[in-house]
Amino acid sequence: MHTKSPPGEQTTTKSPRSDAPRVGFVSLGCPKALVDSERILTRLRAEGYQISPDYDGADVVVVNTCGFINSAKQESLDAIGEALTENGRVIVTGCLGVEEERIRREHPNVLAVTGPHQYEAVVSAIHDVVPPQHDPFVDLVPPEGLRLTPRHYAYLKISEGCNNRCSFCIIPSLRGDLMSRPAGDVLREAERLVDAGVKELLVISQDTSAYGVDLKYAESTWQDRQVRTRFFDLCRELGELDAWVRLHYVYPYPHVDEVIPLMAEGRILPYLDIPFQHASPSVLKAMRRPAHQEKTLDRIASWRRICPELALRSTFIVGFPGETDEDFELLLEWLTEARLNRVGCFRYEPVDGAAANAIPGAVADEVKDERWHRFMACQQEVSRELLHEKVGRSIDVIVDEVDDEGALCRSKWDAPEIDGSVFLNGETGVAAGELHKVRVVHADEYDLWAER
Ligand code: SF4
Repeated sequence: MHTKSPPGEQTTTKSPRSDAPRVGFVSLGCPKALVDSERILTRLRAEGYQISPDYDGADVVVVNTCGFINSAKQESLDAIGEALTENGRVIVTGCLGVEEERIRREHPNVLAVTGPHQYEAVVSAIHDVVPPQHDPFVDLVPPEGLRLTPRHYAYLKISEGCNNRCSFCIIPSLRGDLMSRPAGDVLREAERLVDAGVKELLVISQDTSAYGVDLKYAESTWQDRQVRTRFFDLCRELGELDAWVRLHYVYPYPHVDEVIPLMAEGRILPYLDIPFQHASPSVLKAMRRPAHQEKTLDRIASWRRICPELALRSTFIVGFPGETDEDFELLLEWLTEARLNRVGCFRYEPVDGAAANAIPGAVADEVKDERWHRFMACQQEVSRELLHEKVGRSIDVIVDEVDDEGALCRSKWDAPEIDGSVFLNGETGVAAGELHKVRVVHADEYDLWAER
């Protein structure tokens, strides 16, 4: 969740003027924050700024922070401190920006503080420190903008904010209610990305299956037709593009069933990232989770009947206030039966400002730890079995990286950065972004090994 890119790792365009002002960039946080960073960088390059690869060469450094949990806040504050020590001229933006007082208390020398999605405010703060030098011949950026991800995959952010009010989460107070981008806009961006060589689109938002609710599913123009700003319609149109399409942050609302046939037909990847967070009805109620249904196991079974290849990824929280031994045992039983392909688990952390902090029955740290270890051991067993079933099969992979020792790839069932890998040991004759058919020869509890 908290990736850090060294300043300037992301320079990709034609050479700018050598005297152009230079901005260093540190990007922390989730994929949604990464997309914000890309937008700011795109705008800066469009205005003729250079992106500095190091602190020394930068006229100013922007730190895009994460404010999701306390450890992420501390990481952000440390990154601001490092940028101040190394460069001295620092502008802060992103989720932690809503806590300006705290930032200024710890780092009184920051030049400006702006919050999430305040692109205009960040850019204007940069203008104040180092004004732009416009030159129309060198200030052009590629039509797909600048990206922080490798060339062959890209995050596609379809909405901002969230209408839910999960009791452990402060994102709606940081980012506001759901604001969907019209389907035509999203599809045009997706098409530009694919035209620029992107082979895999990762659809992200806070609540992907709620897409378009705020716009009452309004139609917008795409190519020669009208497309509704609606989850299924967007998936169907994305499935027409020549790229893998992977869905993240999907809540199991009833209409999610509609996209499973698109997966079975190979139009979008057979992959659903659904943050279930728990299985006990009383814990889910206390969490105020959206789309909670008693019968999620039945739903999962029916999806698998329609699309046997479907991979399910999820995240869970153990040690939520009020979670009893019975709740936890129920979660383990559910996990054993659900046989999810990829799972992440967090120990509950009381985020400042979250409603859940007032729920009685705080779980002791040792109990959280013990539950976490039992949860992970249970899932490892499931994961090992599921991956061993793939040995001997022929599967499609996308190549992420190649070095002297071989190629690091991913299957359709693995999202970049969060899931497992497929290793092609000794295979150096392939290139990043290529798709290949390989035969699986070995598996452990996380990864696969294969041969061409
Ligand atoms: S769905 Fe819940 S956890 Fe996700 S962003 Fe909205 S409020 Fe937070």
